[in-house]
Amino acid sequence: MPYHQGKCPQCGQVITPTRCLEANTLRRDVLECPNCRARILECRFPGCHDYALGGKVWDNDFCPDCTKQVSQTAIAGGLAIVLGKCLGRRKLPPWIIQ
Ligand SMILES: [Zn+2]
Ligand SMILES: [Zn+2]
Repeated sequence: MPYHQGKCPQCGQVITPTRCLEANTLRRDVLECPNCRARILECRFPGCHDYALGGKVWDNDFCPDCTKQVSQTAIAGGLAIVLGKCLGRRKLPPWIIQ
């Protein structure tokens, strides 16, 4: 199975993995960066074609760029939900008044 081109999280080069270290049917395949030999996996972010760094204990879900984006979106999204709930009840949370 050919793999697509993407940025390696370790060396930062745009690479096309040629070797599969672990073929997984349920999980993502563990691939190898042809440049720095890092264990890499496809980024899970929809539409992203970069690679996430694989680890000994667990593999990252997202590439470094998406990890940043996801944590920012999660914080903004969480805040919006809290605000929305409070506005719905026409009551502001105490930490906004203070
Ligand atoms: Zn690399
Ligand atoms: Zn990504």
